[in-house]
Amino acid sequence: MVSSKEISIEVVVLGSGTSVGVPMIGCDCPVCHSDDPRDHRLRPSLLVRFAGYEVLIDTGPDLRQQALRAGMQRLDAVLYTHSHADHILGIDDIRPFNFLAQRGIPIHGSQETLDCIRRTFAYAFDSRPSQSSRPRLEPQPINGKPIDIHGLHFQPIPVVHGNLTCHGFRFGNIAYLTDFSAIPDRSLCMLRNLDIVFLDALRHKPHPMHSTVEASLHLVEVLHPKRAYFTHVSHDLSHALTEETLPPNTHLAYDGLTLHSPWVLQETEAAG
Ligand SMILES: [Zn+2]
Ligand SMILES: [Zn+2]
Ligand SMILES: [Zn+2]
Repeated sequence: MVSSKEISIEVVVLGSGTSVGVPMIGCDCPVCHSDDPRDHRLRPSLLVRFAGYEVLIDTGPDLRQQALRAGMQRLDAVLYTHSHADHILGIDDIRPFNFLAQRGIPIHGSQETLDCIRRTFAYAFDSRPSQSSRPRLEPQPINGKPIDIHGLHFQPIPVVHGNLTCHGFRFGNIAYLTDFSAIPDRSLCMLRNLDIVFLDALRHKPHPMHSTVEASLHLVEVLHPKRAYFTHVSHDLSHALTEETLPPNTHLAYDGLTLHSPWVLQETEAAG
């Protein structure tokens, strides 16, 4: 039997920064020395909360700090966009969630991403007994179809990240697209009628692997979401000064930013 339930999907930006974070080690620029907390950017990650469940998109090197800040008490799954260090290096901090739930955590990503995670965190997949704790992970390859996590469907959206393919995800009327230099037309078709879209916008200056403020502003015009938030932001962009230049429905994301979007969850119940 399928029942439907109206829910509110909550997303929390755990990190809005680029791979080195902001401030960057050793940098004297005004943004790295800014007092504005919105200029303090941890490595990129998004927390998705719905119906009592918690899902992470990426587990970057700042995961421990981010999970404590967001008051995370559980982790039901992780979705990986790709295997760059700024998106996977927090994997060891999944252990407390294993302790809490007494089980492994499903991790979803492309075969390429999961293979890289196995190589980088070989100890986590070593079946020999160990006296030290290891993250318990259950790899699930993405096959292009929506990933059903407790009734919420996460549609993988292929995007071009320099010479790599990376995945964004659409769930309900929210889409999270980080680390892209271009979005293929087929993927743009999956991004209609969005309440909220997150888009990579590293800086103004072009970069071979990342979108810019100008390129993502163009995407906002093409996609017509209700609201757009730019993420994976470098120290080139001051939050306050950049906000002044953006159209009313478009903003820079910042760490801790929390947004909601309504959705109807289809739940399949066992016949009774
Ligand atoms: Zn990145
Ligand atoms: Zn700087
Ligand atoms: Zn990347």
